[in-house]
Amino acid sequence: MLSQGLRRAVSLLTSRTLVRRQLSARIVDATYVELQPDKAGATTLTFPGVWLRDNCRCPTCFHSSSQSRQLDWNQFDASVRPLALHMDAAQQQLHVRWSDEHESSYTLDWLRQRSFDASSQRSYLDDFYRPRTRHWAGAEFEQIAQRFNYDQVMSEDEPLQHWLQALAVYGVALLNGAPLDEGVVRRLAERVGFIRRTTYGEEFIVQAKPGAKNYAYLSLPLPLHTDLPYYEYKPSVNILHCMVQTKSRGGSNLLVDAYHIADRLREEHPQDFERLSRTLVDWNDIGSEDGREFHNIWRAPVICLDAAGGYTRINHSVPQRDSHFNVPLDQVLPWYESYARFVQLARADAYSFKTQPGDVLTFNNIRLLHGRTGYDDTEQNSRYIVGAYLDWDIIYSRLRVLKKRSASSSSSSSSGSSSSSGPTASAS
Ligand SMILES: [Zn+2]
Repeated sequence: MLSQGLRRAVSLLTSRTLVRRQLSARIVDATYVELQPDKAGATTLTFPGVWLRDNCRCPTCFHSSSQSRQLDWNQFDASVRPLALHMDAAQQQLHVRWSDEHESSYTLDWLRQRSFDASSQRSYLDDFYRPRTRHWAGAEFEQIAQRFNYDQVMSEDEPLQHWLQALAVYGVALLNGAPLDEGVVRRLAERVGFIRRTTYGEEFIVQAKPGAKNYAYLSLPLPLHTDLPYYEYKPSVNILHCMVQTKSRGGSNLLVDAYHIADRLREEHPQDFERLSRTLVDWNDIGSEDGREFHNIWRAPVICLDAAGGYTRINHSVPQRDSHFNVPLDQVLPWYESYARFVQLARADAYSFKTQPGDVLTFNNIRLLHGRTGYDDTEQNSRYIVGAYLDWDIIYSRLRVLKKRSASSSSSSSSGSSSSSGPTASAS
């Protein structure tokens, strides 16, 4: 299903290679421009006139080197109408004369790529804007967790794209074969974009520290949580490079897809889902790092939703939940019951596994809960993990650039041209 969707997105991006067919254009209701294909069965494309005028491609309206609209919106007539159309079959262009005396031209490829057809929009949103997520139960972990070779990800674009795609869809992916030096997480983050800095710096070391200031730096079991729930702009993806792993029975990673837990609550315990997605919880972190004192607070529900009811983020942390709880008195008891249900379901679903030296575990920190079983920390039995964060904005952007590049290189090879610009998807 995914690969079909991807092919579709690729063909949307590279419709240059489509067979030319004669199209006719007409104005509908004095408002819409309709492109009618000659061939039966092909889709009719309908474009609102005002949208076409707003997206005029001429040098006055559009600045091509920055790919930005520069139309003067102080003068824009929102009731602008198309007056006349001309279809140039040879150039594959549509020309429009407007009621504001302007004239515009659009290539058919450009128009097709921006079709208002619902299925075209769906595939653009699911394959190009952001890959559609697939939620999983802990028991499915081994099937969904994809593994990539560190060196290949660092040197070739195709494994890089597949790693980021897996991370976006499943919220987790593993790299193996990384060298055992502390620079791995930085090099990996810079292969994608740049490290997201937090209160705790850029790279951070997770190992047992005497007198630890952060709960993660103890060898005690670390209950399931998301990192930095007390940030409004929460770091998106956790990169954890295992350099030394304890030989004791503990020290295992615990992971849960909290979107799956939220799905279950929504279905099986709708009242709990409702409370956890509506009640604002105070998350906090107080301390000092490198001589700088900090006091972070962010109020947000455990399950954060967008306008369409999709998940945008999950917040969960026992130590980083504030003792301030600014909700009406009568909401407190019911919220505790619902939250206890969420934590119980998550704990029962947690998948436990142990990374080995050279493994890099990457996961979506605004979706997955992670934790660690306790371990005996002695000199012969230590654990040393280097971590860093990346932001989704940076990852999605990189993924889109890679997809455009691989789409254009596959279209130039399928149309028989021997263009050598851009990476090719050769297997090595
Ligand atoms: Zn124009």
